[in-house]
Amino acid sequence: MSMLELHGVSKTFGEGPTEVHALVDIDLSVDAGALVAVMGASGSGKSTLLTIAGSLEQPTQGEVLVGGAALSRMSRNDQARMRRRSIGYVFQDFNLLAGLSAVENVSLPLELDGMPAKKAQSAGMAALEGLGLADRASHFPDELWGGERQRVSIARAVVGERHLLLADEPSGALDSTNAEAVMRLVLAACRRGVAAVVVTHDAQLASWADRVVFLRDGRVVDQ
Ligand code: ADP
Ligand code: MG
Repeated sequence: MSMLELHGVSKTFGEGPTEVHALVDIDLSVDAGALVAVMGASGSGKSTLLTIAGSLEQPTQGEVLVGGAALSRMSRNDQARMRRRSIGYVFQDFNLLAGLSAVENVSLPLELDGMPAKKAQSAGMAALEGLGLADRASHFPDELWGGERQRVSIARAVVGERHLLLADEPSGALDSTNAEAVMRLVLAACRRGVAAVVVTHDAQLASWADRVVFLRDGRVVDQ
């Protein structure tokens, strides 16, 4: 089953002389359980592709389907609920909240989605345990190493019943050992049926993917 589909997706920023075609007529389909790597030079449209796939931004043209549902037909509220429930996002700079402990960071999306605090915390704990971080649960982000912080942000992205994992250079700030650990976590999520799209500069890491999509100037030049 296709978890993510992009049909003829284009994204243009600005108008007239300052116009930038960040994405041009992109078709992409990612099945449940599949890992797709996205590679391309800086400015080729990788981040734009992820933000549009994650409904954080609207395409100028084309259609995005998540779990078979067209984003353009969903209300803003339904899109927001889907982002909280179904889509996990991992950013290069981790984006953990400094005032919350590791387990509070991980359980926050569940609480925002209305889960009682206790239940959310135990789900957050389970996600951290799964990533070997149980003994770090009560630590704050500035008490964690880079690799641990990134694992916490991955726990936050896969907690609950996520179907789609979108990761923008999740290992960009990590050494090769931690970068491989991050890819192993992404692969483990895929084995549980999560569809994952991972932007990476690292050909070695991209080779772990089922498929590599190369972007140039907003177009897919090779798969
Ligand atoms: P990548 O992640 O591959 O480096 P991006 O998707 O960030 O590429 O950017 C693709 C192109 O779109 C670049 O030319 C970039 O300058 C432009 N772009 C991205 N976001 C915006 C924005 N919000 N406003 C204007 N231009 C943007
Ligand atoms: Mg980028």
